[in-house]
Amino acid sequence: MKVGIIGGGIIGLSSAYYLNKAGHHVTIIDQGDLTTGCSFGNAGMIVPSHIIPLAAPGMISKGIRWMFNSTSPFYVKPRLRGDLIKWGYHFYKSATKEHIAKSAPSLKELSLFSKSMYQQLAKELPFDFGYHERGLLMLYKTKETEHEEAEMATLAKQHGLEAYVISASEVQKLEPDVKVDVRGGIYFPGDAHITPQLLVSQLINYLKEQGVVFQTNTTVNDFIIENGTIKSLMTSTQDFEFDEVIIATGSWSGGVAARLGLSIPMQAGKGYSFTLPQVEKNVCIPSIFLEARVAVTPMGDSLRFGGTMEITGVNHSISMNRVKGIVEAIPTYYPEMKVALPEVKDVWHGLRPCSPDGLPYIGRSSKLKNLTIATGHSMMGLSQGPGTGKLVSEIIDQGNLSVNLAAFNPQRFDF
Ligand SMILES: Cc1cc2nc3c(=O)[nH]c(=O)nc-3n(C[C@H](O)[C@H](O)[C@H](O)COP(=O)(O)OP(=O)(O)OC[C@H]3O[C@@H](n4cnc5c(N)ncnc54)[C@H](O)[C@@H]3O)c2cc1C
Repeated sequence: MKVGIIGGGIIGLSSAYYLNKAGHHVTIIDQGDLTTGCSFGNAGMIVPSHIIPLAAPGMISKGIRWMFNSTSPFYVKPRLRGDLIKWGYHFYKSATKEHIAKSAPSLKELSLFSKSMYQQLAKELPFDFGYHERGLLMLYKTKETEHEEAEMATLAKQHGLEAYVISASEVQKLEPDVKVDVRGGIYFPGDAHITPQLLVSQLINYLKEQGVVFQTNTTVNDFIIENGTIKSLMTSTQDFEFDEVIIATGSWSGGVAARLGLSIPMQAGKGYSFTLPQVEKNVCIPSIFLEARVAVTPMGDSLRFGGTMEITGVNHSISMNRVKGIVEAIPTYYPEMKVALPEVKDVWHGLRPCSPDGLPYIGRSSKLKNLTIATGHSMMGLSQGPGTGKLVSEIIDQGNLSVNLAAFNPQRFDF
């Protein structure tokens, strides 16, 4: 079949990989040059340990507290926009214990499946993308966070994941080269990490060699629909016709879906990262500074710091105050690591595609016969990318699904 994928981030590329392998003729259409989406400069963590969606009890009160501090890790720009109000309403309704209990098994199943796809990719792709299974350390400095995280570890264990509450000296043993100043941590040995730009850039070249067509700098503006089927895609350069269409447009998906008369609430959650090249005494295990909400990932000799979640719409401005918040957090956890504020040109930003309930949208549209949706992975798109791509190919081939997709129904807010 001729399959058109709108969006060439990790979700679109992974879908292209498995669809191409299954023998389909795949075209990826992207409005940019494939380096402008969210999949390039992220923290590279593969995190089956993350079974709690963003919409969780406590997030709203924490978020309100953070909103009044310009260096804090979270910010929602108040706007009188229907899409934000609708998203906020669904977020509020989802921030419950019941929602967590319902979502955790589905998130875990998708993430574990995706990790197994990464293990396969690391073996079958003809290039190295820095895949390592060293686990994840969640580091905390306060008693309050210790309490919250111990509960999280208990929940993870109840779901069959390995999780260990460890002392400060045990953390230090795991990080022999970098001095760590924490109260303790949770160690999730089942997590992994990659170097995302190595995967994405080499995967693009590999897919081109395999015959996948890339139409870059081409924006899909509208669709022609006939008899409940997408007949053609109208883009900034030309019209395209496909047998099957996949929407993998990340933070832009709300607007793209609206063109098809579908409601996919989505907000862009902007985050920043910067990377220290050639760090002499590097961190060994990816970590999250819990109070500061900063992710730290060793990538070869370099070390990447990422963080912040700004719900400010699709915009590309960089708030150096928030980058400063990340920089200032570093020596509070790693007291011997003094990092200068990077120049604006060295700060990467990405727009996380955030659904209001913290769950991705994966599945066939019930309204349009030849449409599949795969988007909204928020903070876990890299982690869940290959799993989602494989599921997309299973949907298109109408085979057995490797993961139960009920929780990820793209129509769940369509009423
Ligand atoms: C600081 C930071 C750290 C992160 N760390 C991690 C991590 O450690 N682990 C993890 O799992 N996730 C992480 N994430 C999240 C992860 O990066 C995202 O979830 C993921 O990249 C989303 O991928 P995507 O393919 O859905 O979207 P994108 O990569 O944004 O791709 C969407 C593509 O669609 C294209 N597009 C949009 N509209 C149109 C249109 N109309 N026509 C044509 N093309 C269009 C865009 O140009 C874009 O290339 C992080 C994010 C940030 C910001």
